[in-house]
Amino acid sequence: EIKTVNEDYFGAYGSFGIHRVMLSDKPRMDAYRGALLNNPSLMNKATVMDVGCGTGILSLFAAQAGASKVIAVEASAKMAGLATQIAKDNCLLKEGDQDSQEKASSGVITVAHCMVEELNNCIQVKPHSIDVLISEWMGYCLLYESMLTSVLYARDHWLKPGGAILPDTATIFAAGFGKGGTSLPFWEDVYGFNMSCIGNEAVEDATQVPIVDVIETQDIITESAVVQAFDLTTMNSDEMDFTSNFELNLKSVCQADGSANSKSQIYWCHGIVLWFETGFTSRFCKEMATVLSTSPYSPRTHWSQTILTFKEPVAMESASSATEFPKSVAVGSVQCPAAQVRSRLSIVRSSAHRSIDISMELT
Ligand code: SAH
Repeated sequence: EIKTVNEDYFGAYGSFGIHRVMLSDKPRMDAYRGALLNNPSLMNKATVMDVGCGTGILSLFAAQAGASKVIAVEASAKMAGLATQIAKDNCLLKEGDQDSQEKASSGVITVAHCMVEELNNCIQVKPHSIDVLISEWMGYCLLYESMLTSVLYARDHWLKPGGAILPDTATIFAAGFGKGGTSLPFWEDVYGFNMSCIGNEAVEDATQVPIVDVIETQDIITESAVVQAFDLTTMNSDEMDFTSNFELNLKSVCQADGSANSKSQIYWCHGIVLWFETGFTSRFCKEMATVLSTSPYSPRTHWSQTILTFKEPVAMESASSATEFPKSVAVGSVQCPAAQVRSRLSIVRSSAHRSIDISMELT
């Protein structure tokens, strides 16, 4: 039997390792749990849909928060079965029309084993009947393997007009990093052997190969910039393909460095680090808004950051003397350092593989 991409994808979600990783990711858990439990005016008596429930953890929080009905949708057979068992073991499963002996402990959660896109073939959910749509859909660099399209599908079919989506915003950020952020030093010393030719090869690849890794804040040499911001209540899935121009200014501490010494100091920008935040904003979370951040300045999450390396490093200079130079940036040229890197980033979904292609250039 030939496995489809989807079978591989949902098969992977049936393995417990990834769920353990997600459930152990404290910033992730705290953000969702806080958004659900600290906003009673939103959650109390609400009808909720959880898109891609996995273990069902978000549905359990929603039930705990006082939701009157939770529809937990999960495409992986194994996880849907486990989510059902977990809801039952915690007395939160809705024992529907089945001839159940324990009708007394009738909970609020119903698990639907199907793709959310096929929910109508699985259970009856009235169109536009959901008060709160919850999902943890984010992938590496926000959009890699992301199931955002499925969340938007659910929004368009079942969310009440003006209904809540948690989270309701998502933003991709970028910053420039110095030498410490590149993977080159890694290849320069592998158990004492020099493998830097591999590092160079990786950087010279025409197509950007993003590296998912943690970046240390001391390796970041520019301020942060917003690459793209999404409003989940209004966006459509075409917006997931985008090209964005942004400017990265040398960090003010680096600037200060330069002026304190009152001599120019060159900073080499080796590439760009990307990360994302999702907002549970006061639009819906009126009692307590929350942000889930995967920033290098925030506690680590399982998403880490995403690193893109320039073919050649760009020279940047602290303000004192950089102002003498034209503002344009010369790639890999020491002659013309600037206080700013201008970059263009494109993200395009590659439909069949649930992945994305990232390309970046200096402008
Ligand atoms: N909500 C859980 C799991 C998140 S992982 C938690 O926060 O821990 C995403 C889950 O969504 C996976 O279990 C995956 O199998 C499921 N999923 C992905 N796309 C889906 C779709 N289109 N329909 C239903 N489930 C989907």
